[in-house]
Amino acid sequence: MCGIFGYTGKKKAVPILLQGIKTLEYRGYDSAGIFVSGCAPVRAVGEVKNVEGAGGLTKCVGKAGIAHTRWATHGVPSLRNTHPHTDCEESLYIVHNGIVENYKELRERLENSGHSFKSDTDTEVLAHLVEDAFQKETNLHRALVRALKDVRGTYGIALMHKDFAREIVVARMGSPIVLGIGKGEQFVASDPSAIIRHTDTMLYLEDGETAVLSPGGYKIFSSGNKTLNRKPEKVDSDIGEIQKEGFEHFMLKEIMEAKDVFDATTRGRLDLKEGVAHLGGIKDVEEKLQNMKRLVIVGCGSAYYAGMVGKYMIEEHAGVPVDVEIASEYRYRAAPDQKDTVVLAISQSGETADTLACIKEAKRKGLLTLGIVNVVGSTIARESAAGVYNHAGPEVSVASTKAFISQLIVLVLLTLYLGRQRRMGIGEGRAIIDELMKLPSKIQRIFDGRDAIELVANKYVLNRDFLYVGRKYNFALAYEGALKLKEVSYIHAEGYGAGEMKHGPLAMIDKDFPTFAISPKDSVYEKNISNIEEIRARSGKVIALGTEGDMLLASLATDVIYVPKTIEMLSPILNVIPLQLFGYYMSVARGLNVDRPRNLAKAVTVE
Ligand code: GLU
Repeated sequence: MCGIFGYTGKKKAVPILLQGIKTLEYRGYDSAGIFVSGCAPVRAVGEVKNVEGAGGLTKCVGKAGIAHTRWATHGVPSLRNTHPHTDCEESLYIVHNGIVENYKELRERLENSGHSFKSDTDTEVLAHLVEDAFQKETNLHRALVRALKDVRGTYGIALMHKDFAREIVVARMGSPIVLGIGKGEQFVASDPSAIIRHTDTMLYLEDGETAVLSPGGYKIFSSGNKTLNRKPEKVDSDIGEIQKEGFEHFMLKEIMEAKDVFDATTRGRLDLKEGVAHLGGIKDVEEKLQNMKRLVIVGCGSAYYAGMVGKYMIEEHAGVPVDVEIASEYRYRAAPDQKDTVVLAISQSGETADTLACIKEAKRKGLLTLGIVNVVGSTIARESAAGVYNHAGPEVSVASTKAFISQLIVLVLLTLYLGRQRRMGIGEGRAIIDELMKLPSKIQRIFDGRDAIELVANKYVLNRDFLYVGRKYNFALAYEGALKLKEVSYIHAEGYGAGEMKHGPLAMIDKDFPTFAISPKDSVYEKNISNIEEIRARSGKVIALGTEGDMLLASLATDVIYVPKTIEMLSPILNVIPLQLFGYYMSVARGLNVDRPRNLAKAVTVE
């Protein structure tokens, strides 16, 4: 994934660059490096703060530079693999986000022609390719364009050469790159949040485009290397710096923001009188949505699970057949989608590489594409024909919590919208909205009881395996609950449909293998109760998540966590909060890095 930041201007570059990649650290944090003109490059393993004091950086007064915070794809996180990478002569420096898919053959070719490599990364081939191309070209930009002709894969690139001290050359293919346009200074970053403190005038590069930045200005070029005159845009300044605001971790803060998220996601969109939701972002495709015969939802991780919940909502209340697909599967299989199929991508960052590829694939087939995206202006938001923004605000913790909740809320709104276009009567629409509006106070009740969830987590902190089960609307939540535990606690957890227990997983159950059973009082309650009985009969411990006042559940389960009652389709919005809190408290009790779990990163811009 990686964060890229570059600066060229009038000020000392080092502090600006360090601050820039710190903002981007959510994208990767296994090593970080910096190159500033006139100074030696500095690299360090681990977080950006390790670069700060290293290699005499404080004495470096250069006014242009590039920096990188890495999430390794090729080559272990180590000093030799840390960006920036360089050529044989150590005259050019490059930072890269993405994957050079044909790097093996390129490396072999380059080594055979005398290049010597210093790292195990795919990125380093780029440095050597530019080195070669530079022999044949008159400037660095032309050299990069020539070099990229040989490259297959994805990249966001920032490149500098020692002899062109103030110039940064940039390229984009599949990995986000945004330019910040200032007065006498220019910026480049993977994400506008790193630039916004300097300027709100920005320009997003499109795939295939390249750019040259110098203190006095910038130039952008098309994939055919023609000069482009695209105007920069003003980017919302509320994407600024985010603080923990007294919470110990971002994850807890973000879970506790669920009510604010509810307000922001539903603001101006609910129409109780008409029993419908107004969604400005899909207004232009209203007619096409009326004619839609099938919806395919694509997503990865939590977004995929949100899509699974959405399927139940939309099929039951709007009568539209819905398929949910893991984006990395959909993009590579030849799905025989008809013209009246609509593809809906769900992505918090709007940059998820696999999900983006699905949108492109669907567009190629002439299908209408929609996005449910949190980050305004992100690639999926721009690539989709229409869509709905979550407005959940920036999510910093790697494990998605509030964004997942907002995805569920948007799916409720979409269900209302599609349902009212079809078979949903005004009464049903009103009843859903009426219940929806009661959620914030119910969310607060869950928060009020969070100490009890912490106590339960502390009881199970030594367990190494967990099963999560649920049915119907809470089937996908079993997967999401298990995912939260895996991500932040490194505990093996599996999600399962409760009805599937006796088809295999029950064999694992004994006194050391607890099950988290999501069993609210809904239409499948009795089925869930039978499954809990089956687990208990095999000495399995059960943490049950149930509806307030359900005494039967308390008598059956080892531990019980209660959630206020709501209608079935809305229950996942409430039920997911204890699952998130349980994962969080487990992680804290195990003394782990909650917000930045090992091996992961936030915006998954590589396949
Ligand atoms: N492939 C590069 C590396 O492993 C960049 C990784 C990324 O963008 O996530 O260093």
